[in-house]
Amino acid sequence: MQYPKDSRPVGDLRSNMDAYGISAELQNQFTRSITFHGITAPGVFIAVFMVDYCLELLGAHPRERLYAISETYRCVPDPVQVVTGCTFGNHRLQVIPIGKFALTMNRPADTPETEGVRVYVDADKLKDFPLINAWYTHSPGFSSLNMIYPLIDEILKAGRDILSVQRVRVHVPLKQSWKSVRCSSCGELVPDMMVEGKVCRGCGPASYYEVISPC
Ligand SMILES: [Zn+2]
Repeated sequence: MQYPKDSRPVGDLRSNMDAYGISAELQNQFTRSITFHGITAPGVFIAVFMVDYCLELLGAHPRERLYAISETYRCVPDPVQVVTGCTFGNHRLQVIPIGKFALTMNRPADTPETEGVRVYVDADKLKDFPLINAWYTHSPGFSSLNMIYPLIDEILKAGRDILSVQRVRVHVPLKQSWKSVRCSSCGELVPDMMVEGKVCRGCGPASYYEVISPC
């Protein structure tokens, strides 16, 4: 299959956004998310639409206290952090790496379970968007060297048309009480539930470095 190749710089996308009726607020979210992400990645644009869809389904304001679960580390976490303020650092963003462009969001709850909304890239709907389909399915016919502009253009044109939504029930993680203990190997402090045997995970199964020398 022949796909259109880049003929314009990515910077020209702004006029396309106006032409597709994308709101100034959403355009601002694209800009902030791309700046945060560091490169003009197609997945960031899809993820901005996903976040916007979730917020609308929840009837929530972007700065409301919400929780988010992304099903991939790729792109999706960044617009979630930029737009909603759910971050890794404040524990309101979690990644469960299933390998899907999917995002679930919910409000806080005191109960063990609560209702949320899940937005995902729908394989059936991708059939109407050949470039997005080729990129998303990692087709050998797609070249990220010279098809990025037409791809992003197709993503902007598609908007929510490649997404489907579900109402879902999610588990609310319970707050655990903990005390601080010293690892018997490295001597550093860790929460007690992070100790296996008498050693911290850094000295055990999650070991990822060897000390060369103190600095
Ligand atoms: Zn240790």
